[in-house]
Amino acid sequence: MARLSDAFIDDLLARTDIVEIVGSRVQLKRKGREYAAPCPFHDERTPSFYVSPTKQFYHCFGCGAHGTAISFLMNYDRLEFLDAVEELARRAGIEVPRETRQNNQDSDLRDQYAALEAAAKLFQRQLADSARARDYLDGRGVDAGNRARFAIGYAADGFSTLKDALGTDERRLKLLDRTGMLSKNDRGHVYDKFRDRVMFPIHDRRGRVIAFGGRVLSAPADGKDAGPKYLNSPETALFHKGRELYGLWQARQANQKLERLIVVEGYMDVVALFQHGVTQAVATLGTATTPDHAELLFRNAPDVYFCFDGDAAGRRAAWRAVESALPRMKDGRQAFFLFLPEGEDPDSIVRKEGAAGFDARLAQATPLSQFFFEELGRDINHATLDGRARLAERARPLLAQLPDGAFADLMRQELQRRTGVDTARPASPAPRPPARGGAPAQRRSLVRSAIALLLQQPALSLQIERPYRFAGLRLPGMPLLLELLEAVVQRPGISTGALLERFAEHEQADALRRLAAQVLPGDEAGWAHELHDAVAQLERQTLQQRIDELQQKQRAQGLDETDKYEMRMLLQALAGRG
Ligand SMILES: [Zn+2]
Repeated sequence: MARLSDAFIDDLLARTDIVEIVGSRVQLKRKGREYAAPCPFHDERTPSFYVSPTKQFYHCFGCGAHGTAISFLMNYDRLEFLDAVEELARRAGIEVPRETRQNNQDSDLRDQYAALEAAAKLFQRQLADSARARDYLDGRGVDAGNRARFAIGYAADGFSTLKDALGTDERRLKLLDRTGMLSKNDRGHVYDKFRDRVMFPIHDRRGRVIAFGGRVLSAPADGKDAGPKYLNSPETALFHKGRELYGLWQARQANQKLERLIVVEGYMDVVALFQHGVTQAVATLGTATTPDHAELLFRNAPDVYFCFDGDAAGRRAAWRAVESALPRMKDGRQAFFLFLPEGEDPDSIVRKEGAAGFDARLAQATPLSQFFFEELGRDINHATLDGRARLAERARPLLAQLPDGAFADLMRQELQRRTGVDTARPASPAPRPPARGGAPAQRRSLVRSAIALLLQQPALSLQIERPYRFAGLRLPGMPLLLELLEAVVQRPGISTGALLERFAEHEQADALRRLAAQVLPGDEAGWAHELHDAVAQLERQTLQQRIDELQQKQRAQGLDETDKYEMRMLLQALAGRG
């Protein structure tokens, strides 16, 4: 990740209004000093998602999502850090400064995107020129609209069509190689990787081409070895197949809000479903469902349907999806499994039965909970005590991965119903975080309250006299408090959100965010008063700490004249502060 200076990030956030950024994507309602909405990151009816214009910070009291305008864009638009920064900078009309090295790296990536885009365009032109390839798509019922939507193309049959067209000099040739478009034989000869294939560009979350999938066009009867039926780009700097879903870009473009995503196996399945009006289909790219996939799926839609073949391989693949999904099954998220009849795929089904028929099958899909227990208890005799104990043993570590919530409770109850083993209580009950508003249940340390006040209103720091007389106090959190004070002194107008961004990689970052999210009672004058009190107490404790040290020395080795003088001054000062 590029290192942008703190000053730049501060400046960027100072010129950005988080309410505007969030408000253009989520409908916000004014609520006191803040804005509220049902959380875009988890499913809920009563709003627990708050955006604070004064703190320039959002926080969800339901799922704990939080952050600045930058992190909101990263999570909501699924942007990388730099892309989110660039987006905000563009809105604010400022330039993103970059170190030269980073600049070179970036321009190399830009060139790679451009090379892939040029390849996609070339393949589209070649499709227009190839009656065979067009016939294939006609035969599959893919109309012009969907050919354009998915930018489907054709890689001509030849070893250097792409290489000759786009690899016109050494630099471009290297670029094509880095994007995975070329292959090399044993003798070092370089040639087109994709030949005589229908080409499906794979787009990233911003609609940029990052890789290709190619489906072989020649029938094996042609007598030549056409290679694997489906061929994907290799992993490159731009393409990590475990993190990408084919069709997600198109699904997001086609739906204002995705209520569901349907995970299928192949590009043609995705395209065929779109062709029949099912515009929420995506495909993994020749891999099992990874945890990254599961995260990406649920970030985009609350309900996820996994389609698999009904055979043993399909069930194994489904189980991999279960394992990836379990830790992400927050309340409001649902996963279903649809097992297809032998010889069918989503493409064939939707062509035979239409969208309604496919939807009807989805409505009958197996919920994750049911599939989980069926699969886990497959070779177990539930009639015996041993069998039930074995089921409980297998289920427990998996259920432990579920996030706390109603779904986890129900799964544990279901296990208990099936086995008679009480697993309702997790091994170590996690303490619940205190409720909103901060009940006085847990008494805060002084340092913690000072930090909480500063996060509420960073400018209060400026009222504390420097140098800080409490700086030498050995208390947990003191170094952090001093760092925070220093950050505000350096940048007096800094908002809470920008301050948190500065401490984003601090080991206490989570604690800071939780404190910042609290809405402290009272107003600015009240907080200033509280902060002065806290500082005064810290100063007293500092005096006391030094007195204790001197008393220890007195007992151990006695005090010299300077020590005695210091002690008198300390006692006087302490008395004066009564
Ligand atoms: Zn939430």
